[in-house]
Amino acid sequence: MNLAHIDTWVFDLDNTLYRGDDAFFVQIVDKITQYISRYLALQPTEARILQKQYLAEYGTSLSGLMAVNGMDPAEFLDYVHNVDLDLLKPDPRLYSGLDALPGKKYIFTNGSRGHAKNIGEHLGIYKLFDGVFAVEDMDYTPKPKRSAYEKFIKTFDIDPARALMAEDTVQNLKVPKDMSMATLYIAPNGSELPDYVDMQTYDLPAWLQMF
Ligand SMILES: [Mg+2]
Repeated sequence: MNLAHIDTWVFDLDNTLYRGDDAFFVQIVDKITQYISRYLALQPTEARILQKQYLAEYGTSLSGLMAVNGMDPAEFLDYVHNVDLDLLKPDPRLYSGLDALPGKKYIFTNGSRGHAKNIGEHLGIYKLFDGVFAVEDMDYTPKPKRSAYEKFIKTFDIDPARALMAEDTVQNLKVPKDMSMATLYIAPNGSELPDYVDMQTYDLPAWLQMF
């Protein structure tokens, strides 16, 4: 695919700008389970089931907890994103690859602003981005809801026809493709590729070396 027209690069954060098989991400998933278990007085196994159900139905567990249980997001976000960053290793190829991209770069995450800053700074890439759009900025209505993308595009005055979006959650690429963005799916080779996926890689830093 020819990407010469792309001048706006949009990256999901978790499992996209760092690897999904990393022990690091397991910490966040476990902390969400702990929080739900405590907040709703559920056994951890029940909490995990609800967590997955909300993730599937609402885009994030957080949105489900807010919609169904009337939970306040601030304490939840502080709790689940308070993780040990030592497990996450900066990758110099990621830095040089992002730095070489022609045009503007954004993080567009269903996580919190604080989480994006923590991770981005730890990976040494935060300063390379022109903006961050996090769950607070979507009024807690996350990807893949169309309203989240529309707000993002409006906030940063983005022309979707000149933008590429990289994501590990494949259904989050459907709306971008409908809006005429190019789409990059972060997934293992051999994964099923829906027709709204243009390109696929499991090694984003390596993929970025073509620029
Ligand atoms: Mg992700």
